[in-house]
Amino acid sequence: MSERDEGSLFDGVRRFNQTDFIEHRELFARVARRQDPHTLFVGCADSRVIPNLITKTLPGELFTVRNVGNLVPFYREAEEYLATTSAIEYAVRILRIKNIVICGHSNCGGVGALFADDEALSAVPHTRRWLSLARRVRDRVVAEGIDDPVEREWRAEQYNVVEQMNHLVTYPYVKDAFRRGELSIRGWYYVIETGEVFDYDPSKAEFVRIE
Ligand SMILES: [Zn+2]
Repeated sequence: MSERDEGSLFDGVRRFNQTDFIEHRELFARVARRQDPHTLFVGCADSRVIPNLITKTLPGELFTVRNVGNLVPFYREAEEYLATTSAIEYAVRILRIKNIVICGHSNCGGVGALFADDEALSAVPHTRRWLSLARRVRDRVVAEGIDDPVEREWRAEQYNVVEQMNHLVTYPYVKDAFRRGELSIRGWYYVIETGEVFDYDPSKAEFVRIE
């Protein structure tokens, strides 16, 4: 599956030009000079999480930021994490998107690494630093004393989504737009092997499958 070499990426571009591009030619012409996306999608950089695929959306619909672990830095710490925070700022203040989706997923290596010791992460110091933004998730799961590794994994992944939703409202302009009812904030959990997506229901504090 991962055997594709560089040449096959070039082949992919040729096939895109010959097939999908032709199919959506009018759409590309329409969005060529401006974008008006309805949603900011914050997802994991994981190769198995494909925002447009799982939402059946087309170019121009999702403004997407992907990073390891689908994290949102706290507003006060944000000066150091500009790639993610500038995307949030631009999406909300300039593009005036209507929805923000934070999407976690099953088998997330980033969330799993929250439980790795410092030595295991010594080769990836930037990743370790970045993941410190989710330290509360690790602390919560550890405090719950869950022994079953599978349960610990999915709980951490789901708690992480909720934690990042909370980080999002530390941004004053996000909070304002949310309070004015101009912005929805959703937390999703995507299960790779079943294709299911679960939507966080704050009133029940649980994820409910989208049917
Ligand atoms: Zn991930």
